[in-house]
Amino acid sequence: MEDPLVQLRSTVLQCRQCGLCEGRQHVVFGEGARQAALMCIGEGPGYYEDVQGRPFVGASGQLLDKILSVCGFSREKDTYIANIVKCRPPGNRAPTPEERSTCLPFLMRQIEFVQPSIIVLLGATALQGLVDPSARITRVRGTWLTWHGYWVMPTFHPSALLRTPALKREAWEDFKKVIDKYREVVDPHHYSPHH
Ligand code: SF4
Repeated sequence: MEDPLVQLRSTVLQCRQCGLCEGRQHVVFGEGARQAALMCIGEGPGYYEDVQGRPFVGASGQLLDKILSVCGFSREKDTYIANIVKCRPPGNRAPTPEERSTCLPFLMRQIEFVQPSIIVLLGATALQGLVDPSARITRVRGTWLTWHGYWVMPTFHPSALLRTPALKREAWEDFKKVIDKYREVVDPHHYSPHH
């Protein structure tokens, strides 16, 4: 039988359920390790992601790759990366609550199929789209949430770190917590920044 994640991908690549389908070049489904223990969720595709059909490939993606590698994670082997919406909002605006909720069932199924142990929410849209529409990223970042049995860490989107480099210090504190949790629930031998 075909992998349900592969089936889901074929469905999503054809999707025209919300207006974002009009301006897209590619649907950006998401990618990464099939059984990743760590899942990173962002907002939606930007220009380069839309052109290539892959998540986090622009400047934010390069920074995310760097952060993951500093934390001892490989994007291909340990991580699955997806977004709240799969098609690029025009001019990189934030997706509307309607667009988010129309697309969300796809992400929910991706999470269900990948079954990560830890989910990192990158930025306000990911936090509000997945967990709580009224949550503020500046308030809850760096604190563990439990959501549907998953450990969830909200932190800043890499684009915020590019805009405001002073936030990098707080983001690093958040990712240190992710490493600690990964050592606790996935691999006790994983790299630790404390030793
Ligand atoms: S953003 Fe999501 S719901 Fe909207 S067309 Fe794209 S895949 Fe479908």
